[in-house]
Amino acid sequence: MAKSSPVKVSVECPHCGFKQHEYAAAKTTMCRQCGSHFAPAAPRPAAIFTARARPEARAETPSAAASLMQRFDGLWKSKRSNVIECFDCQRKQEVSGAATSTICPSCSAHIDLSDYKITTSFSRSIRTRGDVHVTTKGDLSSSSVRCRRAIIEGRLRGNLDSAGTIVINTSGKIPGRLSASEIVVEKRAEVQFFRRVRVSNMEIRGRMSGEIVADGLVTIRKNGVLEGTVAAKSINVEKGGVFSGQLIIGKGHLQQAELLPSETAALSKELSIGLAPPLPAT
Ligand SMILES: [Zn+2]
Ligand SMILES: [Zn+2]
Repeated sequence: MAKSSPVKVSVECPHCGFKQHEYAAAKTTMCRQCGSHFAPAAPRPAAIFTARARPEARAETPSAAASLMQRFDGLWKSKRSNVIECFDCQRKQEVSGAATSTICPSCSAHIDLSDYKITTSFSRSIRTRGDVHVTTKGDLSSSSVRCRRAIIEGRLRGNLDSAGTIVINTSGKIPGRLSASEIVVEKRAEVQFFRRVRVSNMEIRGRMSGEIVADGLVTIRKNGVLEGTVAAKSINVEKGGVFSGQLIIGKGHLQQAELLPSETAALSKELSIGLAPPLPAT
């Protein structure tokens, strides 16, 4: 007979509302509907600072982006149906995994479900519940791109808003505005963000500079380097990871913090381990 198995609980994805079962002890999980990472537990207490690695160690592969794409494809394409949300009225509906577009039953808006693979210059706006993949030769300069997930291996010059994960596996300047439930800067990536990056969670395995506003966890993996400003609920700098710059912990919203300089100073005091001293609030 099998031994008693760990307790599983029903959890709901904060990004798409999909319900699934997870081990009660799990710290993070991936939504089987939209691919977003989230914490299955009830809202975590503010200002957790963990030096430990998260238990879910991701396999080290030559091309993490490629394997992640396969994981996406497996999740996305293997399903008979998906729940998607109208861009205009947020009404949710179930669509076939094979469909490339649909009509919102509430407001009749057209909803694009297609995947975009950008292999050359592309400047038209994209608004899809599918994926966007900018290949190494791709140059995406659209002023507005909204999608479900994105992998950036080429140039990204415009704005990008992803409901799920953005994987960045490229080097150079990223001048546009980026927002996503999760952004992963891959190992060989070396990027400079010119605009504030808005995320729930961020994982840095390569090198980046810029300003991050996260309402969840920012993780700097071994050999990852982050220079810049971070406002996050929590940060995890693994052994061998480097962070330098200003850190505001416990607030996911820098604007609020900026309005409350004394509170900012108090929160910044929670820093101790090997980080550069916070710059004075301006
Ligand atoms: Zn989801
Ligand atoms: Zn609608």
